[in-house]
Amino acid sequence: MELAAFPEDIRDVIIPEKSGVYEYQCLNCHKNWDIESLLYTCPDCGHVLMIEDQNFDRLKNISGARWHKIFNYRKLLNIQGLKGIFRYHEFLGAVLPVDDLVYLGEGHTPMIEANSVLQEMIGIRFYYKNDGQNPSASFKDRGMACALSYINSLIRSGKLSEVLAICASTGDTSAAAALYGSYLAPHIKTAVLLPHKKVTPQQLSQPLGSGAKVFEIPGVFDDCMKVVEALADQYHVALLNSKNAWRILGQESYSYEISQDFDFDLRSVAVIVPIGNAGNITAVMNGFIKFFNAGIIDHLPRIIGVQSHHADPVFKYYQQKDPQNRKFQAITVKPSVAQAAMIGNPVSMPRVINRVNQYDRLSGKENVFFVQVTEQDIMDWQIRANQNGHIACTHGGECLAGLIQAIKNKMIDNHYQVVLDSTAHALKFAGFQDLYFQDCFPDAFGITPKDELKNYPELISPENTPVPIPGQPLSPEKFQQFVEKTSTEIASCLQLKKRIS
Ligand SMILES: *Cc1c(COP(=O)(O)O)cnc(C)c1O
Ligand SMILES: [Zn+2]
Repeated sequence: MELAAFPEDIRDVIIPEKSGVYEYQCLNCHKNWDIESLLYTCPDCGHVLMIEDQNFDRLKNISGARWHKIFNYRKLLNIQGLKGIFRYHEFLGAVLPVDDLVYLGEGHTPMIEANSVLQEMIGIRFYYKNDGQNPSASFKDRGMACALSYINSLIRSGKLSEVLAICASTGDTSAAAALYGSYLAPHIKTAVLLPHKKVTPQQLSQPLGSGAKVFEIPGVFDDCMKVVEALADQYHVALLNSKNAWRILGQESYSYEISQDFDFDLRSVAVIVPIGNAGNITAVMNGFIKFFNAGIIDHLPRIIGVQSHHADPVFKYYQQKDPQNRKFQAITVKPSVAQAAMIGNPVSMPRVINRVNQYDRLSGKENVFFVQVTEQDIMDWQIRANQNGHIACTHGGECLAGLIQAIKNKMIDNHYQVVLDSTAHALKFAGFQDLYFQDCFPDAFGITPKDELKNYPELISPENTPVPIPGQPLSPEKFQQFVEKTSTEIASCLQLKKRIS
């Protein structure tokens, strides 16, 4: 829609201007650092950073109702850079000029209500917000759009040239990094490090297809991460892991969208998020905190973090109820179908601890909870979800299993409406579905397929009848015979009743 057609009272703010004062803030020593250089950890104490807007309070000068109107009308703008996560520009990229924003179709993923079969099974109203419907088929695109927009702005203002972007990945970060990096060719080249045989074939094909340099490393993600950190410490590279605080900023858009999806009324809403490196749950909490502080939402939704029993360091930390006695311990992971979250030493753990405290304090009660689920439940519930119209990945299955666990633990009751994060597209993890259907899971997963959930293709090839072969067409009579025999066999398999005519 053209600018002149917007209501007069929001016309001057509908297209955001550069604003705000962003700084990296160390969560440990609380020092602030300039964003003109690429920093991943505090130069003084080595801790992780978050990006803070030193001038955040200006956003409170606009009333909540006015923000609602601005965000709702922004849906109608046809400005490329503002079509995705930067609809919320003031909250996640305010210092970036609109012309520098990179948009590849990320964000505004659909929130799909579960059908009546599933809702009756679970006994609660719930939705999947499908982040698999992002351009590289995972939520990582949200963070990458933000991180690459920032790098783009450094390039366009002459502060940076010839960037080598690098990341370690459980599969989806590298897919997103390679996609966004390739869009900014020739200024950016991308190199990704993957744990050998620990990403799915689809995930491996993505950075290869985008033209990135792909390295496979022995071990698991945690080992790759150490190598990438050594590279980022010693060489001129742009680190694109969620250690990079710009990634967190972009991923906050998930919370802004949920707020808007519920018309900014988040009373009795709960959001369930799978945890791996713990960047995403940090972002989800931080997004809601910012909207709450700006008066855009009046309630902080309940947050439930889910982990598999094969990769559960965050869950274990919070199992200790007395905060004084909590002590973080990295764990050794076991094979998990929630493979993108198969991380034993999450980089963002200090961020989680910091933001959970803040979230609970602002909520005036304990409002962030953690649950653990089994590999068996993850697979069973992923398949059940998808047999009822969803396209949930294994992590989406993990969230549904987590919902059931949270109800059992009385963290959620049926007054809640629940949003499950399907963090990637089901197709990325089709191999685990195959293992389930064919009952071929290696013992280490501990998964036994349920017969009623299995599915397999049936080959129908009628005997004693010629069948079509490419390049060797059948005669019309023989082809007719083939069609009749095949259709009769299928009708018999499906127990179809014959039409009376
Ligand atoms: C990265 C990823 C996760 C884990 O997110 P973190 O930010 O590392 O906690 C979960 N699911 C999918 C599909 C992912 O790609
Ligand atoms: Zn510090």
